[in-house]
Amino acid sequence: MQAASKFVKVRCPKCKNEQIIFGRASTSVLCLVCGKPLAEPTGGKSSIKARILEVLS
Ligand SMILES: [Zn+2]
Repeated sequence: MQAASKFVKVRCPKCKNEQIIFGRASTSVLCLVCGKPLAEPTGGKSSIKARILEVLS
């Protein structure tokens, strides 16, 4: 499932922090709590590494 152009709520797989990130980030998005990368840019889209809980429209 792609959620590339929306905000998504994700849960950090390491510390379980829930965080809202933009699905098309051009830079890496880190967990605000533990610093684990939650999304990394790959060719214009971002690859989301964390579990997506919800897609926000
Ligand atoms: Zn974390």
